[in-house]
Amino acid sequence: MTTTHAQHWPVIGHEWAVEHLDRAIRHGRMRHALLITGASQIGKTALARALAMALNCTGDAPPCGQCRSCTLIAKDGHPDVAWVEADREGGTLKIDQVRDLQQTLALRPYEARYRVAILLRFHEANPAAANALLKTLEEPSPDAVLILTADSADHLLPTIVSRCQPLHLRPLPVDTVRDALERRWDAPPDQAQTLAQLSGGRIGWAIEALENPEALEQRGAALDMLEMALHGNRRARFALVESLSADKQTLLPLLETWQGFWRDMLLIAGGSRAPITNHDRAATLGDLAHETGIDAAQQALQATRRTLDLLGKNANTRLALEVLLLDYPVL
Ligand SMILES: [Zn+2]
Repeated sequence: MTTTHAQHWPVIGHEWAVEHLDRAIRHGRMRHALLITGASQIGKTALARALAMALNCTGDAPPCGQCRSCTLIAKDGHPDVAWVEADREGGTLKIDQVRDLQQTLALRPYEARYRVAILLRFHEANPAAANALLKTLEEPSPDAVLILTADSADHLLPTIVSRCQPLHLRPLPVDTVRDALERRWDAPPDQAQTLAQLSGGRIGWAIEALENPEALEQRGAALDMLEMALHGNRRARFALVESLSADKQTLLPLLETWQGFWRDMLLIAGGSRAPITNHDRAATLGDLAHETGIDAAQQALQATRRTLDLLGKNANTRLALEVLLLDYPVL
């Protein structure tokens, strides 16, 4: 490895990106807007946070991780670092959120060198919000740095992409994920190896699976259930609705898992270069995309989003689920 200066950044892997940013800061060549792209849970947020720390660190080797600024940013509690994202994953980032941010950015930093705005999953911004942000990118303030994250630059306005420095994060090697799980998270070697392989190089996914094995099991069960429903007739689907509506607590995470599945299928069916999330289901997703096509994926994804919205508004659970499962394609 040629990395010499940047090994202390709190980021696992992505050495070239870290080295590049570290050098840009040391030489005072930091751009005012960056776009970090890559698969979900691959480390985009961690890199954005580390960059915010490095920009405002008061220690000797930024980001030192020790100074007041680093400590506050690590806890997402620094007054000069603003976080903006949709209300939930798969939701919509709205224009009011961008306007609020613009008001904040118009002020001088409160105590830091730079005001940093981190806009997560900017592909979830609606057109009005994206256009509003464009104005900020066109007239950057000298003491503000904007960091956008997104799954792929293909899903953003070209005018936004062209005003940001792009950093595309690739999946980490299995060995890097395994070593990190063993050394930094004290995972037993067997488990570290299994999770690293399942992760598809997404360190965030692996850490979450390690810390919350129950969620991993629930995710697997949710996807198994979905596959069964897709192969099932009307009667089988109604029976599934029956059992699902009995347990409302697990319903939202289950639907979010399904939403991720359809999003993946839409990417595959549309021939997108954006990486998929449910890496371990790639074979099924490929078959499905081939068999039912892009329209079915689009419809199923929209139906799932609508159902999530409805359930958030206390709609009739059983009715909402019935409509949803009848909207899903039949295999
Ligand atoms: Zn520091």
